[in-house]
Amino acid sequence: MSVERLAELIRERAPCVVLTGAGVSTESGIPDFRSPTGIWADVDPMEYGSLRAFQADPEKIWSFYARRIEMLTGAEPNEAHYALAELERRGYVRAVVTQNIDLLHSRAGSREVVEVHGSIRTASCPACRASHPLDESLLPLPRCPDCGAVLKPDVVFFGELLPRAAIDRAYELARGTRLLIVVGSTLEVYPVADLPLETVRAGGSFAIVNRGPTALDGRAVLNVDGSAGETLHELATVLG
Ligand code: NAD
Repeated sequence: MSVERLAELIRERAPCVVLTGAGVSTESGIPDFRSPTGIWADVDPMEYGSLRAFQADPEKIWSFYARRIEMLTGAEPNEAHYALAELERRGYVRAVVTQNIDLLHSRAGSREVVEVHGSIRTASCPACRASHPLDESLLPLPRCPDCGAVLKPDVVFFGELLPRAAIDRAYELARGTRLLIVVGSTLEVYPVADLPLETVRAGGSFAIVNRGPTALDGRAVLNVDGSAGETLHELATVLG
């Protein structure tokens, strides 16, 4: 029933913007952050995920990140990623704004993907600032081919600002849509969690597809508590 209601909202208000979080990729075998089985259940985020920790000991952080990147590049898109790419082709989705760094939306065929927390596509040199493709052959300890310094992956660490162009584009998309759909995010990380409210401030509304509660459930026009893969696959079928 709620998938049908979501389809109705999309028919009335398309093209919509979709905001995804780690929950859209768990069905690809990638753990999310905050579930009991999530990444930070065994690893202290400040020890491995902060800019300060990277600057203090980049080799230690790479010993964790190299394994993480291998896991992410080995994963395949799931039904949720494919359904969103299909809905974009059919004109129901204008763009996907994602907090994920795993590249799975692009690999599933989504064309406009705004990566607000960066991605594992590239790494930059803290010394000479050059950006390089984060090729797996550089692992386990990627060094700048120009100056030899240890590269930093172009993902947003705790304590770092979000890439300006991406967050500006995300706000512009949030303001410009009449319906934003959140998929697989607790909506606890700012400023991304403010994007659904930006849609509301501009006169639109937002729906949430998530397993379990989020910080903004009470503000949503519709809450679908269920699997991202199953829900979005069914949604694409209902929309025909
Ligand atoms: P989060 O871990 O805070 O929340 C994920 C939410 O998705 C939870 O509420 C969880 O119950 C729900 N969920 C899990 N599996 C689901 C499924 N199959 N269907 C529907 N819902 C499901 O993640 P977040 O809000 O994205 O927060 C934060 C950070 O996590 C972001 O900064 C992101 O960069 C990072 N992250 C990215 C990846 C990735 O690239 N795949 C993986 C882990 C974390």
